[in-house]
Order: sequence, then C-alpha cells, then structure tokens
Amino acid sequence: MKKILMIATGGTIASEMTPSGLSPELNPQQLLSFIPRVAEICQVDCLQVYSLDSTNIHPEHWLGIARAIEENYDRYDGFVISHGTDTMAYTAAALSYLVQNSPKPIVLTGAQKPIWFDSTDSKRNLTDAFIYACCGCGGVQIVFNGKVILGTRARKTYSKSFQAFSSVNYPDLAVLQDEHLLQYIRCECGEQPVFYHKLDTNVGLLKLIPGTKRELVSFMAEHYDGLIIESFGVGGLPEYDCGGFYDIIRSAVERGKIVVMTTQVPNEGSDLTVYHVGGHLKSTLRLLEAYDMTTEAAVAKLMWIMGQTREFAEVERMFYAPVAKDILYSVEA
Ligand code: ASP
Repeated sequence: MKKILMIATGGTIASEMTPSGLSPELNPQQLLSFIPRVAEICQVDCLQVYSLDSTNIHPEHWLGIARAIEENYDRYDGFVISHGTDTMAYTAAALSYLVQNSPKPIVLTGAQKPIWFDSTDSKRNLTDAFIYACCGCGGVQIVFNGKVILGTRARKTYSKSFQAFSSVNYPDLAVLQDEHLLQYIRCECGEQPVFYHKLDTNVGLLKLIPGTKRELVSFMAEHYDGLIIESFGVGGLPEYDCGGFYDIIRSAVERGKIVVMTTQVPNEGSDLTVYHVGGHLKSTLRLLEAYDMTTEAAVAKLMWIMGQTREFAEVERMFYAPVAKDILYSVEA
C-alpha cells in the first residue's frame, strides 16, 4: 500500500461555523474521519502545518509547505495538501517553482463546502486527491471536481459552485470518474526533485482600468522591484497623460526594476507586438511579457527568479524558460 503524507493548511474543507462565518478549525485526522474509504486506498500520515483561510496565505507559507514536502520527501510516495480554494492556484504555481522535477505526485485539493455539510464536495475531492497521489503523475497538480489541473495552469474561475478551477491555456491532465483515473496527458518529471528555498516577495500586480491614474503606476513602480501589469487584450500601455505611463515604466526599467506585461483576458495570453500601444513598449524597453502564462504563475515565477538574480538578461532567460509547462509560447530571447 502506498504511503501518502497529508499536509493540512486550513480552508473551507476544514472549516466550522463561527458567529462571524466559516473559519478553519478541523485537523487532518478529523477530516479523514469523514472518509473511511481513504484507509482502503493508501496509508496516510498527517501533518498540520497551518490552519488558515487561504486569504491569509503569504509567500512565507508557500516556503513552509515546500519545506514540509522536502523534509518528508523520501518517506512517502506522494503528498496531498488540503488548502483553501481562494489562493490555491497561487500556492500551486509557487510550489511548481519551489519543488521542480518531482517524480512523486504533489496534489493540492480543497472544497467549496465544509466536510460536514450534507451537500459537500470535500469527500469526493479528498478521496480523488489520495487516488491521484497514489497513481498519478509526478509534479504539482490540483485535483478538484474530478479534474486534474497542472499547478502552473490553474485559476479559480467559480467562486461558489463545485467546478471551482479551470486550466488556463492548457488542457486538463486527467479526470477521475467514480474513483477511476483517466490520465489524458502524462507530464514529464525528473528522477530527483530540486528544491528551492528563496522567494523575493517584492513583486506587485497592477490591474489597469480605463482611466487608471498615472500616480498609481508611479506608486507601484516606486514600491516594488518586480511589477506585473495586467493590461487589456493582447497588451499595451495607455498613451493618454502625455505618455506619462511610458515615462514611468522607462524610468523604472532604467533603475533595474523588472516589469512584466500580461493581460486581464482569461484566455490566450498576451502579444505586445500586435498593436502600437504594446509594440512601442516592447521594442524600446527591456521588459518581459507573460504570453500564455497565468497571472498566478507569472507572480510566483517572478518571485522565484528574483530570489536568485536581479540581472535582467538572466531574469529574461529564466522567465521564458518553461518550468512545468508554465509557458508554451516560444521566444527567441
Ligand atoms: N475562503 C476559503 C479559503 O480559501 C475558501 C475555500 O476554501 O473554498 O480558505
């Protein structure tokens, strides 16, 4: 029987009702007591690393989860991480950079409804996660509502219904139907995992709206060393305000800040070269674009890269080098 480590971090799945709303209270042993079926699938040990609503997850917690995996890696065949759904896609992306080439499955799951609700997705999601941890692919994945989504490609796209996650610009890897795993895509994984221990959290995300004030861009460029701008469509910067946005970004880039352009459109990604508002930027400034990467992956990848280097050519090389299929668009850097 396979040995799986369950790493609990909180979330709705482990929540109880309090006077002010749901709050994580249940420990992993209590969670497992709701699903005796798991004991027939694998042998589970439990480690409670946090008990948090995932709104309160910070990059420090990503490092803590990665550390728990590293410290226990050799003793287990796979890992199930129970986690709140709200920031699960960020954690999945971050773990994909912090634990690379894992031959063993690292599976995140959670639920939209607590495990003690009559109508809950918790039991199915947890059971499926253990099945996948026993016989799925290595690397970081989310198992949710019968779907298996690559950790670098996940996004929460429904706030209430059970189909909470979608795979963005990449197909689902597998489905689980009535406890049967149908693996559509086998991910390549290495023989030995590579663990990283550092993130530079000085990364900010600015979502543009029509009429965004240049003072906001200026503030973000001042306060963060890595700035991701979620622009419109395939990407560009507004030219009103006498080109003020461009000047702010140029000066930030000249001061060694790393700027990444991406899009707020959910699917298909950026291509700055299509319109003048993006092409002018791309051809005159040393900045990056996320292409088909998710914003969650771009944020985590930039933190991971900046934890190692600030030298633009190296940042550029690492950003465009695919990790766990996070970027498919081929770039001649
Ligand atoms: N607020 C919860 C969390 O992310 C939502 C959930 O788990 O579904 O922790």
